[in-house]
Amino acid sequence: MLVEGDIAVTDDNQRNADPCTSRGCMWPKSSDGKVYIPYVIHNQYSSSELQVIQRGLDSFSSFSCIRFVPRSNQRDYISIESRNGCYSYIGCLGNGQTVSLARSGCVYHNTVQHELLHALGFNHEQTRSDRDSYIRVGWENIQRGMEHNFNKIATLNQGTPYDYNSVMQYHRTAFSRNGLPTMIPIPDPNVSFGQAAQMSQNDIIRLNRLYNCCRDADEPTLVEGDIAVSEDSERNADPCTSKGCMWPKSTDGKVYVPYVILNQYSSSERQVIQRGLDSFASFSCIRFTPRSNQRDYISIESRNGCYSFVGRRGNAQTVSLARSGCVYHKTVQHELLHALGFNHEQTRSDRDSYIRVAWENIQSGMEHNFNKIATLNQGTPYDYNSVMQYHRTAFSKNGQPTMIPVPNPNVSFGQATQMSQHDINRLNRLYKCYSDGINLWAVKQGAESYRISAQMKNQSDESMKRAVNVLLLQH
Ligand SMILES: [Zn+2]
Ligand SMILES: [Zn+2]
Repeated sequence: MLVEGDIAVTDDNQRNADPCTSRGCMWPKSSDGKVYIPYVIHNQYSSSELQVIQRGLDSFSSFSCIRFVPRSNQRDYISIESRNGCYSYIGCLGNGQTVSLARSGCVYHNTVQHELLHALGFNHEQTRSDRDSYIRVGWENIQRGMEHNFNKIATLNQGTPYDYNSVMQYHRTAFSRNGLPTMIPIPDPNVSFGQAAQMSQNDIIRLNRLYNCCRDADEPTLVEGDIAVSEDSERNADPCTSKGCMWPKSTDGKVYVPYVILNQYSSSERQVIQRGLDSFASFSCIRFTPRSNQRDYISIESRNGCYSFVGRRGNAQTVSLARSGCVYHKTVQHELLHALGFNHEQTRSDRDSYIRVAWENIQSGMEHNFNKIATLNQGTPYDYNSVMQYHRTAFSKNGQPTMIPVPNPNVSFGQATQMSQHDINRLNRLYKCYSDGINLWAVKQGAESYRISAQMKNQSDESMKRAVNVLLLQH
């Protein structure tokens, strides 16, 4: 089944986010320990350009378990094309995904490696969660509208230090509007950076850690070095919602999520699904709307089981609601919350304080469903009544509980019939629904939420902050 997850973070981090690499956006590992990534290269390049691209692709096999291989008929692959600029999606999106290497300006070894690292799940060095200790952003010098390129991301850095020589580090005047630096090293402003001609040793270590390349005895052992990794959570990951996997907000403050429903359902089943879709409009700025011609949309289908990807994947993405067993209000909401970017409650970063996992009772091979994820919990407490909380015997091999509440093992949980108030709060926080319809929102939330929202960090909208404070005082 689905999703997995994450870890709590403190600053950037009030945003809920799925570190996409810990779930759906890593490329899968083959049984031989290699990670095969099919590629095609469009017929746009000269032979010398092709050589540069090929050298970039092949380089990965010399220092990791990544193997870029020509595509035969694999579903998921990267398509290397000369489009407008150098760019890539973060991680594996599913189906064909473009890695653009424009003939003018992008066909260099470092750029090829850089874009391929994006496709493997990595972000820019200067967006690292800890970058403020190493780089001061010169916001005043950034081209208007390009500031988002310097937003921090709750990256998981796998125990590797900030690396000025990473091939993922932009150069000093990237996106400058006046030729002055947009990034200044700390504490020594004269340190050189962003000059990498190829992947650094840290880039290589991170890649090997993310993909667990080192577990294969036949792999060259370049991992480790001088850096200790302590746990699962050390893996680098893109909290996908802080990057590309949230659904975009319209200028009217709503988040329109186009959908189609396949012609597989009875009319009463369709009613249940429609009620689930429509429910979001009553407590958030999410608006599921029938698709016209939008590129990205969810396709609700009766496939094998109830499942969804986490967050927006781009293009069509399946939300499976099997007619047998999935067409219930709570399940519809659950799967839609996945598609909006949410993980299961029991994978929360702080779950060990609330749930003890009984590993001994879990079906063999299903343990990954109980891995913790570096979820960003938006200041909301662990919620036994979340619609994202599995029930007590989920994935049990013997009927015994796979999860036991802490400290009181008799607390009931996983029984939600619909989204809880905390589920609603998280959704509104992740999508910043407040600035739109603040009063309605506030009325729905209750005093505790006023308090939390007033404390929210990362709140850029001053008027909204004032509005919350006013409500707080009035309450
Ligand atoms: Zn689920
Ligand atoms: Zn980049």
